[in-house]
Amino acid sequence: MSSDSEDESSEASTVFSMFEEKAFTRQYTVLKTLSQHSTTEVRLCFHRLTGATVAVKALAKRKRWWEPTVSEVEIMKLLSHPNIVSLLQVIETEQNIYLVMEVVQGKQLLNRVQEGGCLKEDEARSIFVQLLSAIGYCHGEGVVHRDLKPDNVIIDEHGNVKIIDFGLGARFMPGQKLERLCGAFQFIPPEIFLGIPYDGPKVDIWALGVLLYYMVTGFVPFVGSTLSEIRKKVLQGRYEIPYHLSKDLRSMIGLLLATTARQRPTAQDLLNHPWLQQGEKTVTFHSNRDTGFPDPDIMQAMKNIGFHVQDIRESLKHRKFDETMATYYLLRVEACQDDDSYVPTKLMNPGRSPFPSRDSGTFSLPLRRRASEPCLKVLVSFPEQHHLRQIGGTDAPVPPKKTPTMGRGRAMTAPCICLLRNTMMDLEDSSFCTSSQAEKASSDPEKRETSTSPPLNPRGWRKWKKRIGACFQTLCCCVLPPKRRPRTVHPQK
Ligand code: ADP
Ligand code: MG
Repeated sequence: MSSDSEDESSEASTVFSMFEEKAFTRQYTVLKTLSQHSTTEVRLCFHRLTGATVAVKALAKRKRWWEPTVSEVEIMKLLSHPNIVSLLQVIETEQNIYLVMEVVQGKQLLNRVQEGGCLKEDEARSIFVQLLSAIGYCHGEGVVHRDLKPDNVIIDEHGNVKIIDFGLGARFMPGQKLERLCGAFQFIPPEIFLGIPYDGPKVDIWALGVLLYYMVTGFVPFVGSTLSEIRKKVLQGRYEIPYHLSKDLRSMIGLLLATTARQRPTAQDLLNHPWLQQGEKTVTFHSNRDTGFPDPDIMQAMKNIGFHVQDIRESLKHRKFDETMATYYLLRVEACQDDDSYVPTKLMNPGRSPFPSRDSGTFSLPLRRRASEPCLKVLVSFPEQHHLRQIGGTDAPVPPKKTPTMGRGRAMTAPCICLLRNTMMDLEDSSFCTSSQAEKASSDPEKRETSTSPPLNPRGWRKWKKRIGACFQTLCCCVLPPKRRPRTVHPQK
């Protein structure tokens, strides 16, 4: 008993220190915890260099023998699909591995059904099509998920789906049987209950059947108060299916939940099923990996802050999942963000083709930034001298376009590269009010209303200011004047 608790406390301390390693904190700052288990923890963080938010899953290397770590990393590196969470960077230390991922916006399917009740067929179809598309793609890449369940499916407000958590995933060769017994009880198929070597993809197909059933009914098909009760029902393949579901849907569920794995269809087999034909979305198993050239504007912006062009090209070409690759993709997401048409699941994928280019009409960077923030294009096209003058506060060149607000992706207090180069403008923006400005505004009745409407956040501001200072030191130390700016001198009485 004592050894157990010792084990637990040592694990807890591992978890506690997971996000404090220098290799990680040098690049990221933790904002909040998203989930925490004994050996994995997911936190929302921001990338110091770009100010973009990311989700970071930290995996302790020293795990129990039955918990593989490497496969999750390798699998995520392999995959690039609009309905699968994107990996941006991997930081490996002696103790831990940090998977830096896009932040998937939205709700877990679990909460969605628990809070809003079961879904209408059309809505369920739209989600299912995306799941099938992602899973068909995985199987084509020789990857199985093995932990498909409503907790690992996130849906945003636009109905875009992302599959997360490849912690139980595995790679397989065609025809190869897998042996590891794993998965959530209510989602595992008869062959795993029987403990026999199994066909990996068919396990995912079964889980898709359970998920589909769950979406349209609000409960899982095989329930029981004990594992052996669930096992018995799964092996018998007996479940109830409500009358109100359409014939095509019932047929689809029946196929997915075939107790004999050989009779269960593959993802490919399902493409022409009549229930899927009724929706607007069609199923494809295509990757969204980049084939285009790196975006010249982003390359230039990265060059300006010290990255080498050759390194950027190499990092993207060989998908190195290093700092360079993460910075490139996070900047590209920033470039594409827009308050009105921002669809995170599409934009956050680092592999989307084609790249927006300066020449193409799709390159929307200058139009999609808050008025107070200069755009990346400004940063690219203005020579260093302009920035120096801006920092000094004189003759600041005005960015060519000041238009709609920036996307939701950025935390208000988070600095970004662009911000660094236009500090004076942001200081005047009421949403970045200092505490003294706030006090002054609240004591001035004329200004009270306008000054209190944007959230005043002196604490956030201080952090923000500190971070800008730190970034200046590291990035712009060579261009900042060594002394403070001269103050205005008033004649003495
Ligand atoms: P575990 O192996 O602990 O289940 P998951 O990868 O499922 O790890 O992550 C746990 C939780 O963290 C998820 O249920 C989700 O709420 C949150 N999470 C994980 N990855 C992301 C992400 N990329 N974006 C947003 N939230 C995430
Ligand atoms: Mg999970």
